[in-house]
Amino acid sequence: MDSLNSYAAPAAGDHEAPFDVPTDLLIGNAWVEGSARGRIEIVNPSTGGVLTAIADGTVEDGIACVDAAEAAAAAWAATAPRARATILMACWEKMMANAEWLAQLISLENGKSLPDARGEVGYAAEFFRWYAEEAVRINGELSISPAGNNRILVQYQPIGISLLITPWNFPAAMATRKIAPALAAGCTVILKPAAETPLTALAVAQIMLEAGVPAGVVNVINTSDAPGVCRAMLHDPRVRKLSFTGSTEVGRILLRECADQVLSASMELGGNAPFLVLDDADLDAAIEGAMVAKMRNAGEACTAANRFYVQRGIYEAFTQKLVEKMGALKVGPGYESATECGAMINQEAIDKIEMLVEDAVAKGARVLLGGKTPHGDGFFYPPTVIADIHPDSEILTTEVFGPVAPITLFDDVEDAIRLANATEFGLAAYVFTGDLKKGLAISERIEAGMVALNRGLVSDAAAPFGGVKQSGLGREGSHHGLHEYTEAKYIAVSW
Ligand code: ADP
Repeated sequence: MDSLNSYAAPAAGDHEAPFDVPTDLLIGNAWVEGSARGRIEIVNPSTGGVLTAIADGTVEDGIACVDAAEAAAAAWAATAPRARATILMACWEKMMANAEWLAQLISLENGKSLPDARGEVGYAAEFFRWYAEEAVRINGELSISPAGNNRILVQYQPIGISLLITPWNFPAAMATRKIAPALAAGCTVILKPAAETPLTALAVAQIMLEAGVPAGVVNVINTSDAPGVCRAMLHDPRVRKLSFTGSTEVGRILLRECADQVLSASMELGGNAPFLVLDDADLDAAIEGAMVAKMRNAGEACTAANRFYVQRGIYEAFTQKLVEKMGALKVGPGYESATECGAMINQEAIDKIEMLVEDAVAKGARVLLGGKTPHGDGFFYPPTVIADIHPDSEILTTEVFGPVAPITLFDDVEDAIRLANATEFGLAAYVFTGDLKKGLAISERIEAGMVALNRGLVSDAAAPFGGVKQSGLGREGSHHGLHEYTEAKYIAVSW
């Protein structure tokens, strides 16, 4: 086994994990093994070795989580907003105090570089702070009906027990982005992390318990049977909400599951982000933006730039500089301090990237950088740039989820907008131009929930994150994210 604690608890100071990282299920305030006999092995993507093994939750354990969430629901909903806010703020403080070893843990189980992991911890913790501030600002409305005979009183109440299903690419942030607004709104939750990266979520849950989150408000279940266990919970009439982040394919399945009980569903699904660079763009800013939009998390992000469209006047310079910058990145195990581009999550991820690059090359693409999987342990793919992409290439319609930049040249901005929108997805998009007026006009016409104009990063706890088209339903972060966990109660009053 690769040592969990040698990375999670390096020698000194803040780097030390104050507790053993839990590996069981959190039901109520107890860590329990659950009813299954077997355990799930967790793999270190940087070596392919086994890190540890975690409890494998069953349908019975899932229902026990719902029992625990139900037992805590009324008291949590009735807890004063200021008291909920204070606990969320304590979660933020405690997470930041534990930032360094949490980053190490993320690198260890996910493979991402330490700078990426540190960035994620700060981003993840920020949801606690932001929603601590929002918890005391859940304002209702009062108006007089147009006929003048009714006072319309609207109050926002907690939606109820919420099932939160998260992916492996941001194991801390995807969890806190759901837990924090749910708790701020007064809901109790069951978190089902991805089986690839459960340890970070389990560590965050322990931190939340220590920060004063009452028993049963947050429950965590890992399972090798996500479809069966989640289906049982989604069909339990006490559960009222699903918030899911993951693939569009699984999102569709879960939306169908939600239909049976008419559950409210927030869906943050796949992306296929276009990255437009116009002739008048600042080259250095465009490159800096491209490196963040493409290489943050080694491309394993739903917001990752998936298709580069570059105008003729800046094409050569942009392409050459991107090759130079991406080629200079140090690839290696995420938790080694020199690493800039970490490992992919598993062999399937590598297989998919290889397939997309090979398909593009077979259809005429030129490989300018990388493109060859290295031999050896761990799941690595090198930073890769390909150009002259044939329009029928699968890489233009499929999320790469890896460090591959496919570049297409364009002349006419109208063509670039049409190409950018030629996808069933609509999560993030990137536009670089020196003309802000033009940039805003293009941003308004791009079919995406989020557009980054002259920058490479959209994520912000204070901003509404989410997609249009088949990239999702609802928004996370900001005040919008809180209302995914409330229902409007209208009381008609005569007085
Ligand atoms: P990715 O492609 O990023 O792995 P998935 O959509 O496969 O994304 O998985 C995202 C999350 O959804 C994970 O926690 C996974 O265990 C869970 N999941 C996958 N299939 C189902 C399902 N049928 N029902 C419930 N959860 C599922």
